[in-house]
Amino acid sequence: MQVRLSSRSLSGVLAACLLSPLVSVVPETSAIASPVFDDEHLTHTFLHGLAALASSDAILTGARAEEEVLATVGRGVSLPLASTPCHRTEEKALYDAVVPAVVAVSSVYKCERCSDWHLGGSGSGWIVSPDGLVVTNHHVIQREAGHRMGVMTADGEVYAITEVVAADPVGDAVVVRIDTRGRRLPFLAVGSSPDCGTEVSVVSHPVGRYWCLTEGVVSRFHRQQKATGDAIPAIDGDAPLSSPPRTGAGTKPVWMSITADYTIGSSGGPVFNPAGEVVGMVSRTVTSSQTKPENANRRRPLAGETIVFKDCVSTETLHKLLSGHPQAAPADKTAKR
Ligand SMILES: [Zn+2]
Repeated sequence: MQVRLSSRSLSGVLAACLLSPLVSVVPETSAIASPVFDDEHLTHTFLHGLAALASSDAILTGARAEEEVLATVGRGVSLPLASTPCHRTEEKALYDAVVPAVVAVSSVYKCERCSDWHLGGSGSGWIVSPDGLVVTNHHVIQREAGHRMGVMTADGEVYAITEVVAADPVGDAVVVRIDTRGRRLPFLAVGSSPDCGTEVSVVSHPVGRYWCLTEGVVSRFHRQQKATGDAIPAIDGDAPLSSPPRTGAGTKPVWMSITADYTIGSSGGPVFNPAGEVVGMVSRTVTSSQTKPENANRRRPLAGETIVFKDCVSTETLHKLLSGHPQAAPADKTAKR
């Protein structure tokens, strides 16, 4: 069937296309209480917002990030004790309470073929103090030397990252500062370590689906050296018998595995307890079907036998980076999830 468009209806279609990117949140008359995101528009906003900030000398480049990570390893950040962090209440569900303090993290760069800025890979992060300290993964800020980094909040505001304040590359966590342009921003509190079985929620940006909520439970805590993303890490059982397994907080961070889904783009996303306190941060996935060469004789898992482990930065690592953090309001057990 052929559809013929008159020039008038065609111009109507074009006008609609041109106007639609301007509307990222549905009008208040909508029955949907939570924010409604237009991913295409937000990506456009992030690119153009960062491009506008990219020529400033203050914006963090990939090259400077590497230097500042090395210079701030082991440094803890003292946070102000004054104000109230975002938290779940009787009236506000966890998602709606925390979304304003969860950010997307990315960079812009110039390719060799044109003069435009391009948007780099996107990760996640979260605001931990109203004056603009943001926590994310170390691997999220590991970018090519010429990249210029920044964050975007859920209202489409874009802020330049200006420096690395504290870093734990082994624990895959960094604290960076953003230029809030004088604004006080909503922020999150870090809670105490949850027990296995505790329900947890992740708000992150998997494959460009901005501010996506997933849920699960804490499934395990373990100690190991940092592994590269989605790879089988070395385990002590493979070490020669003569060398005793390395243990202790000094050499191996504690990681927290959870069952909430996440994938590429979620890195640096906060893991919440039911009260809306941060109790972990997305770091990587490890797929059980990946086999090391020396295990080639082992039976390979059959289809359906694969687990994707979701390994997160633990509160132990976060508390080392963030000291003197304000406590969240006491958890209201009766509040809605
Ligand atoms: Zn280009």
